[in-house]
Parts: sequence; structure tokens; C-alpha cells
Amino acid sequence: MSPVARIRDWVFDLDNTLYPAPALYDEIGERMTDYIARAVGVDRARALELREHYFHEHGATVVGLTLTHGVDARDFMAYVHDADYSVLTPDPALAALVAALPGRKIVFTNGGGGHAERTLKALGLDRAFDLIFDLDAAGYAPKPQRAAYERLLGAFGVTPAHAMLVEDTLRNLEPAHELGFATALVGPVHPEPRPPYVDHYAHDVHTLLRAWLKA
Ligand SMILES: [Mg+2]
Repeated sequence: MSPVARIRDWVFDLDNTLYPAPALYDEIGERMTDYIARAVGVDRARALELREHYFHEHGATVVGLTLTHGVDARDFMAYVHDADYSVLTPDPALAALVAALPGRKIVFTNGGGGHAERTLKALGLDRAFDLIFDLDAAGYAPKPQRAAYERLLGAFGVTPAHAMLVEDTLRNLEPAHELGFATALVGPVHPEPRPPYVDHYAHDVHTLLRAWLKA
């Protein structure tokens, strides 16, 4: 059943949800490893271990670096996202689909340091979205920490019963569903049986939005 009539706020994750760009993720990841090696004083192999450990532990690498090593979050975010966004190409079909949804369109990402703004611009999606809520705006509480969702709701006056979260990361949907969001999982791999906190799913965001808009 299409949720279009009921939803007022469409909340989309960014990376791997609105676009796939392995080359960009790789570059940002390499820059994270470089930064960690330098800031913590370890070799790149150990820096990579720390990067992955803090990502799994906290939902975002920067949180572990801040808590454990006193890294300056803004400096880290600015450095790692100083990447080459020209590898992204505009997606006018997605821009049209997002624009056709009634209500507000919000990007909710664990990225920061201007990553969402640069990515949306490179994808030609900057005018299709109304608001961005990134890790800086969330006060460095990343998804799936419940505080991230609560701060989003508070910042923009979102009513979860009339909000949809679209995500490629399964674990990020559970807290949203607990708070009352409708949820959609996008991506090639889907868990069977489908967890009770996943209301909709599709192979990719284009397919998902096309189905909702024509229903
Ligand atoms: Mg994602």
C-alpha cells in the first residue's frame, strides 16, 4: 500500500540510499585512515582497525575518536570530506521522483563537514530536498543512537506517525520504527524473514518511489 497520502515528512539516508558511489566512499575512507594514523600515532593497518571498531561501536567513527582520543570532530569531518565529488553524476530521474512526493524532503545522514551539501549538489538533488540533518546538526549523535532521531524530530518538528525513513542500513531502521516512523529498506540484500520494523522494501530508491507514486 502506498504511504504517500499519510506521510508529511520524507526522511532519506544519503550514502548508498540516494546514490551508490564506491569510489567516493573509498576516498573518504582512505582519508579517515590517514587522519587516524596521524592523530593517534599508529600505522595505517592499526588506524583501519580503529576506524572499523569505532564505526561498529558508535555508528560513526568520529564519535569513538572524540571520546577515546580527544580528536576534534569538526577538524576530522572537514578533512575526510575534502574529497573529489566530481565522480558523482546528476540523477534527474531521482530528482523528479523526490520532487513529486508531497510534503517535506529531509536528508538524515551520519556524514558531516559539508558532505551532504556537496553530494546533493553533485547529484542535482539540492533543490529536491528541503532540509539536511547531518552529524554536526545532531551534535555527533549518529544513527542508530536514539538521540539522533529525537534531535531530528525536535529540530524540524517532525511527527513520527507522519514520517517515513528510507535507509540502506538495516540497523538504523529499528529505533525509527520504535519512535513511530514508517520505514523502508533499500538495497540489493534483504533479510528473510523481514524484520517487523521494516515496513517497505525495494532494490533501489527509484523503484521504491516509482511504486509509491503510481499506487
Ligand atoms: Mg547509508
